[in-house]
Amino acid sequence: MKVLSVVGARPQFVKAFPLSRALRREHEEVLVHTGQHYDAGLSDVFFAELDIPGPDHHLGIGSDTQGRQTGRMMIELEALYEAETPDVVLVYGDTNSTLAAAMVAAKREAALCHVEAGLRSYNRAMPEEVNRVLTDHVSDLLCVPAERARSDLAAEGITEGVVVTGDVMYDAIRWARERAVGSSDLLADLDVEEGTYVLATVHRAGNTDDRSTLKAILGALSALPKPVVLPAHPRTVSRIEEFGLEDVTGGIRLVDPVGYLDFVRLLDGAERVATDSGGVQKEAFYLDTPCVTLREETEWVETVDAGWNVLVGAESAAIRAALIDEITLPAKPSLYGDGNAAEAIVAALAGLKGTTADPTVDPAADRRNGGGSDRTAGDDRDSRNSHDDRDDDSDDNE
Ligand code: UDP
Repeated sequence: MKVLSVVGARPQFVKAFPLSRALRREHEEVLVHTGQHYDAGLSDVFFAELDIPGPDHHLGIGSDTQGRQTGRMMIELEALYEAETPDVVLVYGDTNSTLAAAMVAAKREAALCHVEAGLRSYNRAMPEEVNRVLTDHVSDLLCVPAERARSDLAAEGITEGVVVTGDVMYDAIRWARERAVGSSDLLADLDVEEGTYVLATVHRAGNTDDRSTLKAILGALSALPKPVVLPAHPRTVSRIEEFGLEDVTGGIRLVDPVGYLDFVRLLDGAERVATDSGGVQKEAFYLDTPCVTLREETEWVETVDAGWNVLVGAESAAIRAALIDEITLPAKPSLYGDGNAAEAIVAALAGLKGTTADPTVDPAADRRNGGGSDRTAGDDRDSRNSHDDRDDDSDDNE
């Protein structure tokens, strides 16, 4: 089977590497980097230290408005799908790269697999939420991390092609945790001791792009009676400069974004983490670090229900209290699988009908016949394409 995987942003490199390894043991993978994250500290460092081959194609599409960035990606990806003719297009998470790759794949013959499907914050003001919902609705195979995601999809009418695989970021952490302890000197370099500092990350537009919100978060972190380490995303750095908030960062060890192993080491050694990241909430749970989430809602609800994550929004007093109050941590349940999600996803891909993994079905003939063969995960794709064939006076249709 030929699988074309599309990545573009930091969390996608982390999600892709365990799956890429598992995939390449059985299938051909073509890795495409859209260029959504182009900063070396947000991109190149991951390919180097995670020991994954560099991308086969780099589209070089950097920052832009939501619409232009997504549109430019779609134009480039369409040409690439045309040239590579993959059996499956694989997308991760909730970025504009995810959405662009999904929208183009949905109108072609390739099956579309969404890894980390079914997550919902139910906050449509987040571009990520729009990307998740739309991608799920055109996917053929939806690999979800937990049962809740499956039932949330069912509530939207998506029941076909949903497979609970666990979370591929758990696979990544299992690989990285020991290596990070052995390879990272960052705690010593930053002059912080294990278990005594707060790690913070802030980069969601809702927190960085409004001056008073960013000021409230930085002010709360800066005034904490313990060391705070903040590897700052380029967007956050530029907003701090733009809003003139340098003075508010006085009590924070503001550093450049760090590589994955260094970050895992920092998170593992932290007393608590304050974050608005999606991935970091889960990673904190896997590494037994209590999490304070700088948002009003989360798509990783299970970590909150389990008592290891608390939602505080961006209000200074609430952030401070959550980071200094004594906490009692409950026993940890298993939430997102057993750290072998990559194998489960590869197995689910093999069940996709109409790909070379299933030689009993000729996808073209199947579509000509109205997609009537016995189908499971490929159901939506086949019926969608048979519909496209009827609407064939548009150049869009394959
Ligand atoms: N991360 C990293 N270095 C940093 C900050 C984060 O390697 O300085 C990793 C982190 O371990 C996680 C991923 O980046 O795997 C999360 O990315 P981000 O917070 O940008 O995206 P989100 O998860 O919110 O989509």
